[in-house]
Parts: sequence; C-alpha cells; structure tokens
Amino acid sequence: MNNAFSSIASAPLASMHAQGTQETQAEGSAIALYAHPSPDFVAKLDEAVRTLQRAAAQGPVVQANSLGAEDMVITDLINRHALAVGIFVLDTGALHAETLALLTQLKAQQASHPHAPLTVYRPDAEAVAAFVQREGAEAMYRSIALRKACCAVRKLEPLARALAGQKGWITGLRREQSGARADVALIDETEVPSKGLRKFNPLAAWSWGDVWHYIATHDVPTNALHDRFYPSIGCAPCTRAVTLGEDFRAGRWWWEDEQVKECGLHVKQGEATA
Ligand code: SF4
Repeated sequence: MNNAFSSIASAPLASMHAQGTQETQAEGSAIALYAHPSPDFVAKLDEAVRTLQRAAAQGPVVQANSLGAEDMVITDLINRHALAVGIFVLDTGALHAETLALLTQLKAQQASHPHAPLTVYRPDAEAVAAFVQREGAEAMYRSIALRKACCAVRKLEPLARALAGQKGWITGLRREQSGARADVALIDETEVPSKGLRKFNPLAAWSWGDVWHYIATHDVPTNALHDRFYPSIGCAPCTRAVTLGEDFRAGRWWWEDEQVKECGLHVKQGEATA
C-alpha cells in the first residue's frame, strides 16, 4: 500500500468486506467509510478557495470535471464562491450509466450557476467508429499502445478542444492519489512555455478523508459507484472496483503496469507515459 487511501480506508474496508457483500453495496457507505478530515482541514479548505480565486482572477480558465469525487467538490466550491470559471466534462462515449446519471444531475445544477456554465465535449464520432472498426471494441486490453490510441481519440482530442483559448485549467489532482502524483503543485506552471496553460490543483494537499468530509458536510452529489468501492472512476471498460489493500488507482487499467497508468490528460512534459 503506497498511498493514504489505503491507510485511511483499509481498516473500515476490511471490516465491511469481512461482513460480506450486502454491506459493501449499501448506499451512502462511501461517506460512512471515508469522511474523516485531517486535523488541518480548515487550512486546506482555505488554501483551496484561495487557489480557485487566483485561477478565476487570471481568466479565462476552465475546470475539468471528470465526475469524480474531487471534481464534484471543486465545482461546489466554484459555485459557493460564485467564481467565473467554465466547467467541462469529457463524455468519452464509454462512461458508466452511474456516471452519466451524475452528468445529468450536474447539468441541472449548473443551470442555476450562470457564472460557471457546463460544456460537454464528446469525441469525433467518425474517428471513434473508424478506430473501433479497425482495432475492435476491446483493443485497449491488447496493448498499451492501443489503449493510448483509444484514449487519444476519446479523451485527448476533445480535451484539446476544451482547452483551446484558455489560460489555465483546474483539476482534482491530489498528491496521495498515486506515486506519479506525489509532487503535484497547487499551481503547476510546467505547461506555460509549451501550451500557455497554468494548471491549478486546489486539492493537491487534501486526503481522501478530507474530500469525503467536504462532501458529507456540503451535500455534494457524487457518483453512486463510489459506494461500490470505485474510488477512481474512468471509462467503464477500463475501471473496476478495488479490493481490500489495493491502492487508490488500482481499479484503473488494472491489467497494466503501475508506471504507465495515465491517459495523457495529466502527463508531464518529457515523461513517456501516454
Ligand atoms: S479509458 Fe479506456 S475506454 Fe476510455 S478512452 Fe481510455 S482506453 Fe478508451
């Protein structure tokens, strides 16, 4: 176990698994399991708000909302502080029904927050059809190259459209999510020279317990899959639930080596991972 998800969650997770599957499917169990704030949660919350305010002041800036727990917290903060930040979701065409249900909820929510309009970006339908026809619907399992090719068509191309004309983007990256993210900065300037983009990571220092404490205390809508041991949620073919003792992102591209588990959205310049 190499991250705080494991250390925070393993004790209650062990208990729940030991009791059988009935409890693991209980609605609301994610809050019951994880909502344990750090001693310095208030300071982290203040830091997150200041980072978002700084992002909004630089404008134009957008939030990449993956419909995961962290991103739903950030959208809630943007709404509560009435920040002028556009929000976008990448609907890859391969999302879980539960994720799409949350997207519907998010659309309705943002309709009453005109300062933070929601835009949904989808991949080019012809490009997806051509890829599937050429490589098959399950190409991602055959090789890392094919998995990255699928991510390029379904995620990276629409991401480029979402970021066009922006000066910055806001993400839910946290240091404890994985070893590859251990040095995530609150404000990452490494994409400024190449793309002119600052990346704002307001929850960089937050623990999984902090995220769920905020969700529990601010009534933030979340993906129902979190209650079924999906801490990190991506496309349906490439995400599974985690089991006792597994890391936070063990359910993402679980058949691949840990070192290459990024889809390209958050890969640093010069790194070989997607
Ligand atoms: S996560 Fe899986 S289904 Fe989604 S774009 Fe990447 S390879 Fe394709």
